[in-house]
Amino acid sequence: MELRNYMEDLVLKKMDDVLTKYPDCCKCDHCRTDIAALALNNLPPKYISSHKGSIYARLDEMMVENATAIIEEIAKAIEIVSRHPRHDDVK
Ligand SMILES: [Zn+2]
Repeated sequence: MELRNYMEDLVLKKMDDVLTKYPDCCKCDHCRTDIAALALNNLPPKYISSHKGSIYARLDEMMVENATAIIEEIAKAIEIVSRHPRHDDVK
């Protein structure tokens, strides 16, 4: 059995677009992972079995349906991470 949370793909796909509107936000791997995690915690997971293929056609469909909520959550996550970046903790 193979399950995938499409929401994860959607958030990662959209994150770069949204980040371009926040030139001051740090874009290191640590901050990007934090942004994705924060956004995903506030978005409903969308699980789909991945064994049937044609994932990417459905990914586009779901992107259209969920784009507004996804962009909103990514923007909120970016604001939180830019105020309190945690990358210094791990250096
Ligand atoms: Zn950073």
